[in-house]
Parts: sequence; structure tokens; C-alpha cells
Amino acid sequence: MMKVQNLVRKNIRLLQPYSCAREEYAGSEAIFLDANENPFDNGFNRYPDPYQRMVKKKLAAYKQVEESRLILGNGSDEIIDLLIRSLCQPREDNLIVFSPGYSMYEVCGAINDVEIRKINLQTDLQPDWREVERQSDASTKLIFLCTPNNPLGNVIPLAEIEKICEKFTGLVVVDEAYIDFTEFPSALTLLRRHENLFVLQTLSKAWGMAGLRLGIGYGTPALIGILNRVKAPYNISVLTQRTVLDVLEQREEFQEKLRVIKKERERLFRAFVQLDIFRSVFPSEANFILVTLDDFRELYDFLVQQKMVVRLRNIPPLVEGGLRISIGVPEENDRLLALLAEWKSEKKTEVC
Ligand SMILES: *Cc1c(COP(=O)(O)O)cnc(C)c1O
Repeated sequence: MMKVQNLVRKNIRLLQPYSCAREEYAGSEAIFLDANENPFDNGFNRYPDPYQRMVKKKLAAYKQVEESRLILGNGSDEIIDLLIRSLCQPREDNLIVFSPGYSMYEVCGAINDVEIRKINLQTDLQPDWREVERQSDASTKLIFLCTPNNPLGNVIPLAEIEKICEKFTGLVVVDEAYIDFTEFPSALTLLRRHENLFVLQTLSKAWGMAGLRLGIGYGTPALIGILNRVKAPYNISVLTQRTVLDVLEQREEFQEKLRVIKKERERLFRAFVQLDIFRSVFPSEANFILVTLDDFRELYDFLVQQKMVVRLRNIPPLVEGGLRISIGVPEENDRLLALLAEWKSEKKTEVC
């Protein structure tokens, strides 16, 4: 079986990591004169736990995975960068992304001077394994899958993910930023079976904590150990760690807000179809809906004029003239529907 450590850049494998002051002593009952901190307690005068042990303990129990399989980042974007930086030798290695998909993978690859091999999703919106085989070689270290997909909203079945894990010789990163919005199962259930599987989740979307910045990575303990050496020692602040511990207690509020968002998603989907102004309305397992139309720029400008901001997503060949619309609170969605109806009637009078 492939050892995932062998995918890591040589300089990173050989790295002698920075050793934090607080790492050498695990207890909390002591006089700490080791880190040049200010000794006067104001709640923030001490450095945070570099391994966020309390947060990981709670998350691990909640997600039913071992703590040693977790890494936390300043948003999942930090973990995407950590993975690329740790595995891909600049100008030598390459990575595979799919289009349409989340653009951070490419941006991060480009910043790290790593070649991006972009493959279009098939017309059924699923990854094309034969094209992956054609485009990958011994230097292909990573493949990024996004499910539910941003901006399409569809899910890649677990059987498909498993097939890719079995065939692909690099690391398979499954980005589950929107997993809480769907009833489809998480790839976390495959983690023990596939050493080359890495799952990404975040508190930014369903948990409503985009401003806090907390991303979660799940992988083998060996790979997590390597990422821990590469990351900035104190990447998650004291404030974030404390807040996460609180947020994870608020399960009922979380479930209730999820329920409203999913209900609104179904309402908007039906209304979008009924309006009959879009070429296509993509069914969504996430907290947004992608629509396409010929006059997408015109509609976008009209909405902006009315102080309603959606996202332009023109990604040929699969998505020609797309707008990605996030699900708001019910009153915001009402306003959106009213504006769309207004735009439709204005178009009609133009034609007459
Ligand atoms: C929003 C989003 C993220 C979240 O990034 P954070 O840095 O955790 O806020 C990750 N992946 C995808 C596909 C997203 O749409």
C-alpha cells in the first residue's frame, strides 16, 4: 500500500520543526517563565495551545474520529495552502482540479508555483476518471474534489470518491465545506479505509462562523504530523479556540438554522423554476443555487442597482452565464424574488 508520507517534499520530510516553548511542558499548573510573555493576566497574555488539544478533543468526539487525525487551520483555505506547500515541489510537481470548482485550489497552486491541470467535469457534473488518468503522471501529488460542489451544488457519490482513492496515486482531497447542508454521507466514513484520502470541512458555512476562521482537515496521523510541522505554531488564536468550544455546544440553534436554510432553498428553487427567466436552475445540496441565463450580466447589474449582490459565475463550457445565489433569511429571499419578478416584467415591456 502507498505510504502517504512518500508524497511529501524532501525538504519538508527532513525539516527540523520550530519547537514552541509550551510544547515541552504539557501541564497547566506551573509558573511559566519560558515564552517571554507578559506575566499580567488579561485573558490573552499567554500564547495559545499550538495543537488546540481542547478543541480537537471535542471535535473528535463529535465527528467520531481520532484526535491524531485532525488539523485545524485559519479557515480551510490555510489547510489547502499547507497541503500544496507540503506536497508539491514548485516547478516540478503538479495538481489536478476540476472545472467548475472552488477557485482557491488554483490560486494557492499558482502562488506556490505549482502546475495546475484543470479538467472539465462531465455533462453529468461528475469527474471524468479517464481524463484524470490521461492527465496525471508520477509528479501529480494532489487532486481536489469539491462535494457538494461550489458553484454547482451537486454531490459526488461516495462510491466514486472511493474509486478515485483506489486508482489515484497522489492525495485525494475532498472539500466538504457544504456537507452539513446535505443528507448525503460524508467521506469521513472512508477515512480509515484509504490512506490517501484527506477531508476538509469548515465552520464558515453551516456553522455560521465565517468571520471566526476555523477550518478542519482530516487525514492519516502521519500526514497530520507533517502538516503540524509546516504550519505556523500559533495559527489558531486563544479567542478562536475559546469561541469554537462554545459554538460546538450550540447544536440545537445550529440544527434549527440549517432547517430554515434548507427549507428556503427548496422554496427558492421552485420559485426560480416557475419564474421562467432562467435557462437552467441547478438542484443544490448546498446553501446556494446556481442559475444560468443569456442576459446574466444585465440581471446582475439590475440586482446590484437595487442593492442585491449575487455572484457572477460564467464558467464555460458547462456553466454559460451563471449567477450563484446564496440562500438568505426568508425576508431577504422574498426581496430577491420580488426583484426578479420586477426584472421579468420590465423585460416583457421592452419586447412589446
Ligand atoms: C467557502 C468554502 C470554503 C471555506 O473556506 P474557509 O477558509 O474555511 O472559510 C472551502 N471550500 C469551499 C469549496 C468553499 O466554498
